[in-house]
Amino acid sequence: SRHYATKPSVLGRLLPNQPVVRAVQDVSLSIARTEILGLVGESGSGKSTLGRVALALEPPTAGTVLFNGAPPAADLPGFRRRAQMVFQDPQSSLNRSLTIERILESPLVVHRFGNAAARRARIAQLLETVGLRADMMRRYPHELSGGQRQRVGIARALAIEPAFIVLDEPTSALDVSIQAQVVNLLVELQQRLSLTYLFISHDLRLVRWLCDRIAVMYLGRIVEIGPAEALWNAPRHPYTKALLTAVTAETLVPPEAAGDVPSPIRPPPGCAFHPRCPAAGPRCSRDAPRDVAAGDGVMVACHLHDGGVA
Ligand code: SF4
Ligand code: MG
Repeated sequence: SRHYATKPSVLGRLLPNQPVVRAVQDVSLSIARTEILGLVGESGSGKSTLGRVALALEPPTAGTVLFNGAPPAADLPGFRRRAQMVFQDPQSSLNRSLTIERILESPLVVHRFGNAAARRARIAQLLETVGLRADMMRRYPHELSGGQRQRVGIARALAIEPAFIVLDEPTSALDVSIQAQVVNLLVELQQRLSLTYLFISHDLRLVRWLCDRIAVMYLGRIVEIGPAEALWNAPRHPYTKALLTAVTAETLVPPEAAGDVPSPIRPPPGCAFHPRCPAAGPRCSRDAPRDVAAGDGVMVACHLHDGGVA
């Protein structure tokens, strides 16, 4: 697959581990330049929180985010230009009282992009980039289809030429027939503009197709991370296996992982997955598993791969 180890990390060492609500704990990951990293897990697993922490929209409760080796706070305006977000629901993330032109102009004004004429030309160019006609700029969000609105959301994120984009379930609010078009647009843009994506999704099949690597989150922790094909073909973690079983069996609830997701505020002791894990042993409710290298570039946090569960 494409290029993971090209450059040192764009985003490195996310280590928020102090409680208040520990939505994300002891998470450490890095994303290489022009990589697409998929982040999967059930709702409530902390995916969106991790995405927001990565964009410095939420402070990590501990630890640091590094972008090109420096914390965002070292140059927050510069970081905001380079790191953007595409939201799940374009219906609610676009201001319904503004025309598309005003919506797209806003980041250009904030980041002092040119004069009015230059901004207008840039807006027309952005619309073309995302496959919309320039006359769309006179419309309001409610006059657009869901797919067109998400294209506007993508154009807004691209307005000031970012390098890194967090996409938080960018297609899950769209009709199935539209999803593929938007995904294909995102792939084309990533290649053409050399973008780096953190792609948050609960759709493992999509993530496998789209991403270089996949990180699987469970209750605020990354339990497995590695090349997309390695996770798909040989999942190591029982939770990843359950997610994959659910995909291939076309069922909504992973059979082995049935039962409610425990609260992230008070996660179960030891391995947080142990109440739902078919492979759990005595050690699992006692000790938190470490991250261990499990071959093929995969890291997994599970006692099965670190001396066994007994
Ligand atoms: Fe299951 Fe134990 Fe591995 Fe956790 S550490 S996933 S409970 S086997
Ligand atoms: Mg979410």
